[in-house]
Amino acid sequence: MPATFDPSLVYFVGAGPGDPELITLKGYNLLSQADVVIYAGSLINKDLLHYCKTGAACHDSASLNLGEIIDLMATDVHTGKLVVRLQTGDLSLYGSIREQGEELAKLGIGFCSVPGVSSFLGAASELGVEYTVPEVSQSLVITRMSGRTPTPERESLESFAAHQTSMAIFLSVQEIGEVVERLVNGGYPVSTPVAVVYKATWPDCQVVKGTLADIAGQVRTAGIRKTALILVGAFLGDEYHYSKLYDAGFTHEYRQA
Ligand code: SAH
Repeated sequence: MPATFDPSLVYFVGAGPGDPELITLKGYNLLSQADVVIYAGSLINKDLLHYCKTGAACHDSASLNLGEIIDLMATDVHTGKLVVRLQTGDLSLYGSIREQGEELAKLGIGFCSVPGVSSFLGAASELGVEYTVPEVSQSLVITRMSGRTPTPERESLESFAAHQTSMAIFLSVQEIGEVVERLVNGGYPVSTPVAVVYKATWPDCQVVKGTLADIAGQVRTAGIRKTALILVGAFLGDEYHYSKLYDAGFTHEYRQA
């Protein structure tokens, strides 16, 4: 039985990276019960809106500013409608939900978050890779290059590159040349593998693979300028080691060697 939801709250729902089947069951239930859906039209797969009931009002927020989005939500919550705010991937990464929550709170409206599959997870599944390869890389840096939205100085791409760990770089493919320059200046060898994944999990997904030496030219040739992730690190390379966890000679809590 699908849960019932509280129409006095706004439900923020992570839509997943693109494939409409990659929304959570809770997200699906919310969409199918919502009276009003405000979706981020620049990135959301509109096929998700087919899950909505007949008569649901669907608004694309692409051309709206924060105040207009909040007004829309508040008017509908106050008339007892179930309002869903649908955003790409997961809400907790570059989701701007903090500011929406703060503005809603000023109007006495609470919110509830339903997580989604982030695009960096969609991209890994598209490539069939894991970011954490035993003895090669055990950490993942999720970041973006500073652009019109600045990033704190101490979070420069150079500083992260010094670790030579796995990296998933959001919102930066339009500046691929500068990204590469900064990563190399920071310490990644130019032979480091890179994959650029455009529209992970969409039917028109495109993957460009190379190294820091040649990826910028390849991305320009492919014409990729948005909706892409830059994945960097030896996890994409040939070196790997089997994990201890499934090693027949390794004893642990649940299994004797
Ligand atoms: N909250 C989202 C990220 C929003 S920021 C998430 O969890 O994925 C928007 C950026 O996310 C895009 O510029 C791009 O870098 C990345 N992105 C979103 N969807 C993507 C997809 N399907 N494939 C590749 N990158 C994607």
